[in-house]
Amino acid sequence: MSEFQSLRGFHDLLGEEFKRFKYVSELVRGKLKLYNFEEIVLPVVEYLEVFRRSIGEATDIVQKEMFAFQDRKGRWLALRPEGTAGAVRAYIQNRLYALKPYTKLFYEGPMFRYERPQAGRYRQFHQIGAEVFGSIDPLVDAEIIQIVYEILSELNAKVIIEINSIGCKVCRPPYKEALSTYLRTVAGHLCEVCIDRSDRNPLRVLDCKVPTCKEAVKEAPKMVDFLCNECREHYSKLKEYLTLLSIPYRENPHLVRGLDYYTKTVFEAVSEELDVALIAGGRYDYLVEEMGGPPTPAVGFAVGVERLSLLVREGLTEDPLYMLIPFGDVMDYALLVAKALRSEGKRVELSYKRAGLKKQLELANRLGAKYAVLVGEEERAGNFYTLKDMETGHQLKIELSPAM
Ligand code: ATP
Ligand code: MG
Repeated sequence: MSEFQSLRGFHDLLGEEFKRFKYVSELVRGKLKLYNFEEIVLPVVEYLEVFRRSIGEATDIVQKEMFAFQDRKGRWLALRPEGTAGAVRAYIQNRLYALKPYTKLFYEGPMFRYERPQAGRYRQFHQIGAEVFGSIDPLVDAEIIQIVYEILSELNAKVIIEINSIGCKVCRPPYKEALSTYLRTVAGHLCEVCIDRSDRNPLRVLDCKVPTCKEAVKEAPKMVDFLCNECREHYSKLKEYLTLLSIPYRENPHLVRGLDYYTKTVFEAVSEELDVALIAGGRYDYLVEEMGGPPTPAVGFAVGVERLSLLVREGLTEDPLYMLIPFGDVMDYALLVAKALRSEGKRVELSYKRAGLKKQLELANRLGAKYAVLVGEEERAGNFYTLKDMETGHQLKIELSPAM
């Protein structure tokens, strides 16, 4: 083993894994462009308070998963665990609310969470997230879920989109009350963390992964039964739009998210094969105001790029590779042939290996070349090259354009 190793949970993305990663990234970005989202690049480090205030003090992320540290001046900073907090900070700081009636942004980049690494769970991972600021319309929620659905469909993923509404300032407090009361009656079956949460943050109990807790909350009151008129209409309109767009979904009345800032719509795309969440999001109508901006409703989602990459199975198609093989002292001519082929848009690898034809053809095979471009004394004298199809062995002499 070499002296230096990367940190636990911090991985190198390379080879086939990188190709799948890039494929997912480009798929999501392409989709967001179709919906006219504008890209922003956000800092990786923010003041710790940005995350504490937005994500919430009582969440797993803030309590256990942050890479927080003090800088040389003793200020508390953190590596971002997610993108929405920074996007909201940027939206306010750059006064984007003053420019347009609503704003559609997306970002891509590494996120950091101190959790136990396992398949598809890293300490540095990547998200692509999109946020729409400035509209309360359920149409926006529907379009956000539509994007998610279209991404998953293009990956042929066996997933189910779960949705729920977790209400607003008006209807959530009475629900929390009812939930707390219920949780006290099943306290004997709850884990210690959940007993602690039952009063302060009862919604999080619904999200607990401990089997006895999962069982104990099955009969718990549901937020949908407590929604105020506004939230109920918002939720039913959303469902109407999803049906209109033929987007299959499942209502999960106990779906809550691990972040405190959500209101009304929350959703999650769960892989049926892998049993993990791939894409998640929801509405957060108070967060901009809580972070010091004007009251601005908002809704968004985040894709875990490594997670989605796990679903990419089919062979990724690449442009065919042309392996340029010089034999003899023809390097000058080989450079010019490579230049000519690349100017036609072809993917060309000029072999750096000085060896006989047979060895070089073996290398071309190993690199997965579709064609070998053979260049020797004869080719140079006649200003052509010999194109060999690696599969059929068929050869063709092709003249180089006079411009070269
Ligand atoms: P989980 O329940 O798996 O911990 P989460 O609810 O913490 O997920 P979000 O904060 O909603 O996840 O992040 C959105 C997406 O980011 C997730 O659906 C997942 O695809 C991805 N993600 C979250 N944490 C990690 C991680 N540690 N490693 C890789 N991807 C992650
Ligand atoms: Mg998590």
